[in-house]
Amino acid sequence: MKEAARQARAENHLVGLVPTMGALHEGHLSLVRRAKQECSRVYASLFVNPKQFGPNEDFAKYPRTFESDAAQFAELGVDALFAPAADDIYPGGFSSYVNVDGISDRLEGRSRPGHFRGVATVVLKLFEIAQPDFAYFGRKDAQQVAVIQRMVRDLNLNVQIVVCPIVREADGLALSSRNAYLNPEERRAATILYRALQAARAEIAAGTRDALEIQNRIRTVFNSEPLARLDYAEVVAADDFEPVARVSRASYVLVAAHLGKTRLLDNMLVEIPEKNPTELVCHI
Ligand code: AMP
Repeated sequence: MKEAARQARAENHLVGLVPTMGALHEGHLSLVRRAKQECSRVYASLFVNPKQFGPNEDFAKYPRTFESDAAQFAELGVDALFAPAADDIYPGGFSSYVNVDGISDRLEGRSRPGHFRGVATVVLKLFEIAQPDFAYFGRKDAQQVAVIQRMVRDLNLNVQIVVCPIVREADGLALSSRNAYLNPEERRAATILYRALQAARAEIAAGTRDALEIQNRIRTVFNSEPLARLDYAEVVAADDFEPVARVSRASYVLVAAHLGKTRLLDNMLVEIPEKNPTELVCHI
């Protein structure tokens, strides 16, 4: 991978990297398509990163579908697929980590201690190995994007982060490799995350700015679905993920919920232009 990256740079290619953990779906493929539009060399990585899973999480049972993933990347014209073994990424005695303090400690970080340290560390390594000009991430994992953007800024990395929209099923459920864990009942109930965000969007469109009111609206929607257990509903500033009392400029409304043993995430980006607040946009 390093050799390919060196050659691409020598040939003045614009290099795009799409990091994934595999078990591909349209969400992943949308990142590859975007990269193909913007870059003359596109690399994908496929690595189920042990360091971003907690001891009681689903590392062992995470879906692994290498053959079909590789075929799908090839079909979309990915120039190289980087699929290292865990020992190659973390050789014996590995002891260097990236901590993005603050952002990493809240929400997902609180529910999953060490998760963002694992993410930031592997993403920095992937950037070092593949040397991309652009790296493509989905807004589905909004806090992950914020952690990576902060790392890129703080450590002066020569890569531009491109954030791509959330790809959804027809009924609104955000695509996720973990949706495969849901039984039919849970799958049906899982649209509750999307429906709660839609209700929050309606509140905001009607003029509500107060975060507590928006959170309460989401909780009420969740109360109608006995199969779902809300983990958190939060309104945060888009850049630092600090909770805000009122939605303003660029805020995320975030939800995490358990459907049986499966934990799912979803979010909505709310943009309110300072000069013209009536031109508010909610990206679900
Ligand atoms: P993962 O394989 O889960 O680590 O995801 C790899 C990349 O795909 C990350 O940047 C995710 O944010 C992105 N991604 C996952 N699901 C979606 C989705 N439904 N829409 C857009 N991007 C997604």
